[in-house]
Formats: sequence, structure tokens, C-alpha cells
Amino acid sequence: MNKIPDDAEARRAVKPVICYPVETLPQPDMALLQRAASGAQVAGQVMVPPREAASIRVPAGHVLRISSVDGPQVGDLNLFAADNLDERFYSGKTRALHGTHVTTGDRLWSSFPYLRPMATVVADTLGWYGIDEFGGSVHDVIGTRCDPYTGRLLSGVDYHHCCHSNLTRALADAADLPLHDAERHVHDVLNVFMCTGFTRDTGQYFMKASPVRPGDHLDLFAEIDLLAVLSACPGGDCSAEHSSDTAACYPLLMEVLAPQPSDLDGWTPPAVNAYDRTHGR
Ligand SMILES: [Zn+2]
Repeated sequence: MNKIPDDAEARRAVKPVICYPVETLPQPDMALLQRAASGAQVAGQVMVPPREAASIRVPAGHVLRISSVDGPQVGDLNLFAADNLDERFYSGKTRALHGTHVTTGDRLWSSFPYLRPMATVVADTLGWYGIDEFGGSVHDVIGTRCDPYTGRLLSGVDYHHCCHSNLTRALADAADLPLHDAERHVHDVLNVFMCTGFTRDTGQYFMKASPVRPGDHLDLFAEIDLLAVLSACPGGDCSAEHSSDTAACYPLLMEVLAPQPSDLDGWTPPAVNAYDRTHGR
């Protein structure tokens, strides 16, 4: 046990500073995006079966709506640039910029070297939830995705309908890739409708029953052409366990909404990040 320094309390009492103040972050024109979204019409849809994943392509300027149907259900979302699987959703940087959970006005950022907004949250019917007494909130970017490797480590059992495997199979189909090639592109997710946080005493990742109910939805304005892949998590509402066939599971609906073209006047897709990539050489 290391000796506790005399000024330990003083060191603990130092006030935190925000790592990434967002005052200089380019802000979306929310009035324009929300006007475009409100006038948009359904142009395509896919139902994600329970304990499976499905994909849909979302043209830039369109809206991806993810809806709860039939019962409380959590979804694990992967996003790719439609024509380049190397550009994918970057959960960690999104967390660093916007915090542990996202809601209306927050953006979903892409991986290096692209680092640009892939999508902007334009509606969230669970926005009222806020942060509960346990520190829990909805739509997290702190979890990874339930996967068969961690399941094997913890339980010694192979479970194939976890989100990682569901996403792998759906991406293999969508991108016409062999299974193991597709798996390399699967990444940490946006946990749609999932209610999570960290315990205050031990700092452990926790989940609790999602407050989502049928009819609730999360609307993502596509800033670039997207391939969206969504798994209906085997945890269902994630109130008890995942990585098994025990929990009650329900489908999730993905819809693509096409705005009136004139509603996009003044909007342009974001360019890839402007850093010159010379890294000091
Ligand atoms: Zn899952």
C-alpha cells in the first residue's frame, strides 16, 4: 500500500475541466435539419428481427429513423460511409466530444483520418429521460457490443446471436464480403435505446431496463451517404442479461425518410477532416 500524501484531499478537491470544450466545434444548422426531417416521407424500410441484424442504405440528406415496435428493445448500431467501409462510426471520439450518451443536436463522428460528422441526431423521443439517480441515461457511446469472445471468457459458452455476430453476418451480406473480412469492419456501437451508466462506487459499466416503449424513435440525419447496420440485441430491454436466448426480444424498425429537395437548400455534406496527415515528417 502506497503512503497517502499529506495533501491528498487538496489534490482530490481540484475541480475538473472539460477535455474538449465544444464552443469551437462546427455546429449543425438544427433549424434546417429539423425542417427537412419534419417534411420527409418514408422512402424505404427494413424490420430487424429479434436476435438478428439488418442493414439499410441512407443517402446523404435523408433521415434514418430507428423505432421501437411491439416491445422494449435495445439496438446496437454500426455506421459506415456507403462507398468506403474504412470510414466508420467512432464511438470513442463521439463520447469525448458529446459525453457518454447522445441526444438531439449531438453528432456521430467518423474514424480517423476522416473525422467528420456522419449523422446528426434530429429527434429523440426519449430526450426527456435525462440522467437518472444512478447516473444512467439513454443511447450510450460507452458500451462496445455484446460479443462471442467476451461471452466465451466469462461463461465458457459460444453464443452466436450476440450483436457482434449479428452485425458481422448482416455486413457480410450487405457488402458481399466473406464472414471474416466483414468481421474486421464491425466496430463499437451506438447503443440505441439502451439505458446505461457507470456505478458511482466501483465505476463499473451497468445497464438497466430501457425506458423505450413502442412508438419511440431516434432520428439520425445522414450527413454523408451511409450504410447502417443494426442488431436487435439478444438482451431485449437489457434489464437482466444479454448473450443468451433468455430475455424477451422484439424487432426494431429502420426507416429511411426522404426530405423535400427544396428543404435541403443551403445544406452541404461535410468534407473529410482537413488535417494534412504529415504527422511532423
Ligand atoms: Zn447486444
